[in-house]
Amino acid sequence: MNITKPFGDTLALIGNTPLVRLQGASKAAGCDIWGKCEFANPGSSVKDRAALYMIRDAEARGELKPGGTVIEGTAGNTGIGIALVANALGYKTIIVMPDNQSKEKMDTLRALGAQLVLVPPTKYADQNHFQHVSRRMAEETDGAIWAGQFDNVANRRAHIEGTAPELWEQTNGKISGFTCAAGTGGTIAGVGMGLKEKNPDIRIALTDPHGAALYSYFATGELKSEGSSVAEGIGQGRITANLEGAPIDTQFRISDETGMEWVKQLLREEGLCLGLSSGINVAGAIELGKQLVADGHENPQVATILCDTGFRYLSTLYNAKWLAEKGLPVFDWLEE
Ligand code: PMP
Repeated sequence: MNITKPFGDTLALIGNTPLVRLQGASKAAGCDIWGKCEFANPGSSVKDRAALYMIRDAEARGELKPGGTVIEGTAGNTGIGIALVANALGYKTIIVMPDNQSKEKMDTLRALGAQLVLVPPTKYADQNHFQHVSRRMAEETDGAIWAGQFDNVANRRAHIEGTAPELWEQTNGKISGFTCAAGTGGTIAGVGMGLKEKNPDIRIALTDPHGAALYSYFATGELKSEGSSVAEGIGQGRITANLEGAPIDTQFRISDETGMEWVKQLLREEGLCLGLSSGINVAGAIELGKQLVADGHENPQVATILCDTGFRYLSTLYNAKWLAEKGLPVFDWLEE
């Protein structure tokens, strides 16, 4: 991308994010670790890409018509992406969200003009789960579509056609490994598929938080979860349509404590304020880097996703009281 060239509209600002070498992570891994700066999207997260692709896809299929409404169930970031794309294209937005997500995400959605419906967090099998509530609302609302990010493969196409070729170009075709955690699985599956098209030897690793079932699925074939995580936006218990056929070569499981150590390092030593999924991803990328080095790869180049801005979590990850409540180490500079 030539950023000296002006863009014709705000939607063109989605994607083409910078890639940055992470100094501390590279040192820990013994090879180059790169972070894809998805917080630099206009909605400050990786989900702007999926939002744009799902809305463009619904238009192309003739389902979303001028003045229509986009309805979605989301942990927040997809909702923010949808609301800004919908505003730019003249659609209304209704977002159904579990009420345990960060206040900053809720305030941002309200500020963007989205109608917010909060539901108690429940298991997917429960019909009151945010995904089912949002799907029913879309069925009952005139002129509405349900984005359905978990099983709508327009989501992963955003990464097959966008994120993966960008990573390939940004590393001059030298990328040797990629890893990230999964929410819908759109990013890991799409980037994995897109990179394997370029070079099937690129190692794709799933990085799973505790409480998710994918680590065990890719290791043993059985969906089984262990422990829990406070990370927002990641942690999947089933094989979504986006995850079907994902080319996963290896998998890591990363604790919240380890993820938070990297959130802290990235903030204090590199000046990047990020969310916990980014910290977990960086910890996973270090594991992948070490594995490639141990396997004799020369000068491995490993990339991961810096998913969203930490400014979205000032009341949680960067709040001493909240951290103490969750049993997580409190950053010393936050203590009174
Ligand atoms: N991190 C954050 C903060 C997110 O909101 C999401 C999206 N749910 C992800 C990671 C995971 O992305 P994906 O849905 O593509 O798996």
